[in-house]
Amino acid sequence: MTFEALGLNTSIIKALTDSGYTAPTPVQQQAIPAAIAGKDLLVSSQTGSGKTAAFMLPSLHRLFAVEPAAAGKTPNQEMQAARARGERPRFKAAQPKMLVLTPTRELALQVTTNTDKYSVNLRRIKAVSILGGMPYPKQMQLLAKNPEILVATPGRLIDHMESGKIDFSQLEILVLDEADRMLDMGFIDDIEKIVAATPSTRQTMLFSATLDGVVGNMARRITRDPQVIQI
Ligand code: AMP
Repeated sequence: MTFEALGLNTSIIKALTDSGYTAPTPVQQQAIPAAIAGKDLLVSSQTGSGKTAAFMLPSLHRLFAVEPAAAGKTPNQEMQAARARGERPRFKAAQPKMLVLTPTRELALQVTTNTDKYSVNLRRIKAVSILGGMPYPKQMQLLAKNPEILVATPGRLIDHMESGKIDFSQLEILVLDEADRMLDMGFIDDIEKIVAATPSTRQTMLFSATLDGVVGNMARRITRDPQVIQI
């Protein structure tokens, strides 16, 4: 099995080859074609199985390798233009196309690093981590660049949502990574609030060590006719 056979764009495959990936892992073989087709996914898989690429590669393919990049100024450019006109610029909410929720800062940073690696040959893709413990002014600067992809821990994301810094009306893909750990850590109410703020037309992919019990209930509530993948 090759990455070409899974239907991925050649710019993405080149980045994989340059990173030393020669063949897709089992979870990637099952998840990537279904996700490219726009299906919701419920995946039970462990850390180390290649799950990050299993959700990020088809997302990059769908959002940025196939459709032309949306035209228009970024909020940051709009603020600069307003300043040049002598107006007082106003912060405009970031409008990400993809959101990845993770239980920990470490996992969020790992997902962001991998995303940068996979998207190196795609134009104008910015992935940003929004994490508890990071200074707010720094995060406001990152959000002002209107990143296409947000990778976040739930608590801090809620803070920014509630202060109007993030608008999820343009969100197309939502990923819950290590969903069972997020629930164990008590993030259920935050997750419910975040999901409720996203369009119901989104594609949802949930990854978890187990799909039983509480996580299974939530998974079925937030996905539509999902493809279930057990590795
Ligand atoms: P993950 O399960 O997403 O944490 O990935 C585990 C590790 O495997 C990471 O260091 C990835 O960069 C690497 N990896 C993921 N997919 C592949 C692949 N198809 N070939 C080689 N390495 C991979």
